[in-house]
Amino acid sequence: MPGEVDIKQLLHDLVVGDRVALAKAITLVESTHADDPGRATELLEACHPQSGKSRRIGITGVPGVGKSTFIEALGSSLTAKGHKVAVLAVDPSSDISKGSILGDKTRMEKLASDPKAFIRPTPAGGSLGGVARRTRETIILCEAAGFDIVLVETVGVGQSEVAVHSMVDMFLVLVLATAGDELQGIKRGIMELADAVVINKDDGDNAAYTQRAKASYSQAMHLFPPKENGWAVPVLSCSSIEEKGIGAIWNSVEDFFELTARNGSLEGHRSDQSSYWLRHAIDSELHRMFFEDERMRTHISEMEEAVKSGAISPFRAAGMLMEQWSQSN
Ligand code: GDP
Repeated sequence: MPGEVDIKQLLHDLVVGDRVALAKAITLVESTHADDPGRATELLEACHPQSGKSRRIGITGVPGVGKSTFIEALGSSLTAKGHKVAVLAVDPSSDISKGSILGDKTRMEKLASDPKAFIRPTPAGGSLGGVARRTRETIILCEAAGFDIVLVETVGVGQSEVAVHSMVDMFLVLVLATAGDELQGIKRGIMELADAVVINKDDGDNAAYTQRAKASYSQAMHLFPPKENGWAVPVLSCSSIEEKGIGAIWNSVEDFFELTARNGSLEGHRSDQSSYWLRHAIDSELHRMFFEDERMRTHISEMEEAVKSGAISPFRAAGMLMEQWSQSN
């Protein structure tokens, strides 16, 4: 039971890199928010001084583009170089689709059995905001456990990319080359977040299309305004299955971190993220306090009925409820 966990002992085991302790700590943080937020906060607070030292990289792309295969190839090449790699996922749809990304660890067989890697599926249940918050907290725990590279996988369908962008330093968007001229996976919102575009499956028959796709994507990327941090978004290619081009992609990631650390934008981005998460935490706490306030319960349901029947507009009703709440506090 999470309630029985000795936080001091857990922290001790965690910082020496014990993976079982890390898994326990994540479970504690995920499960105690609702009933015992103090313990989760205590653990996260204690980990805070050890955090912030990893490279946090988001990886997205439509289902089937090869994210798992890419992460397996990249992650294994990094652990071979001595890095400790954590792989997390943000997939708010996984409840419905029953464990899509990372639900099945066999998709990353090599990494799953690699002692220098740690794979954690998407936190169960809850809204995207809740899942995102728990993933951000998991990043902190992984960093305290000595993981120096954190890869956060997400499905390339919209909303969750924005959430992941609020917790990573760099964002890789995986795409495919096709026989036609159309660009695959070029959802405007997602491409705008990209710090590198990676054309996967540059092998077999696909290899012939990759060069052309590279040119098209490069052209498309020029349509976006230049990044404030001075980084020019590269369009790269690889074959995750043949493990070809992975090294060049990592070189580009290193260039990104070198540039952004040098010009201060890495630190700036992280402090913006911290203030975003402060506001996010306040939002969710206010939400919880309001809806769990016994004194408000009847008022809320009465007002809800009035709104449903059309007697009052939702906005006016919300205003009146907030007024009542602030007076009762
Ligand atoms: P995800 O849904 O984005 O995680 O995609 P997966 O990693 O599960 O890959 C989807 C399919 O594409 C699988 O059948 C993989 O074997 C295949 N695949 C992934 N990467 C490559 C690649 O570089 N080349 C080729 N030919 N197939 C790949």
